[in-house]
Amino acid sequence: MNWFKKAQHNEPPEWNYPGAEHDYNPSWDYEIDTSPDQNIVNFVNNYIEKIKKDILPETGFIQDIKPAFIKGDNNYLAKYINGTYSHTIIVVNIEAIKEASKKYKVNIEDTVETTILHELAHAIQDGTGLEFNEEQAEDFAYNYHVLGYIDKFWEDNNDNIKPFPRSLPY
Ligand SMILES: [Zn+2]
Repeated sequence: MNWFKKAQHNEPPEWNYPGAEHDYNPSWDYEIDTSPDQNIVNFVNNYIEKIKKDILPETGFIQDIKPAFIKGDNNYLAKYINGTYSHTIIVVNIEAIKEASKKYKVNIEDTVETTILHELAHAIQDGTGLEFNEEQAEDFAYNYHVLGYIDKFWEDNNDNIKPFPRSLPY
């Protein structure tokens, strides 16, 4: 491959988010990964399609979720972009996910799934005016991922959050 084709190939993909009520572009704040691991990209996209069908209708206010693949700071695996909940943006750091999955001996698929669910919980907290709460996000991810149950924490105000075992750091 000659240099200009390579340069073209490494151009960040154009960002567009049909129907979004905000114009947030992840490249404003993050370094876009121009050649993310395609297997993991596909896995992330498929999982997001699944939760769009299964979970978003239950929220009633999140219309869509879109991932952006970024690199850089490997201290977090993914991050919900504050304020974007109606058309949620989650930035995903695939290299950080790979690292964490090795370090904590959790397979990539489970790491991706629980990470996305955790960030979705932050979008729901944002959209319902709740405080960002790590434990609540963790419980939401665990309940859906392990028990297949949608924990509608945003609907009840009674303090009955159960302690669940933790597996991954976020
Ligand atoms: Zn979190």
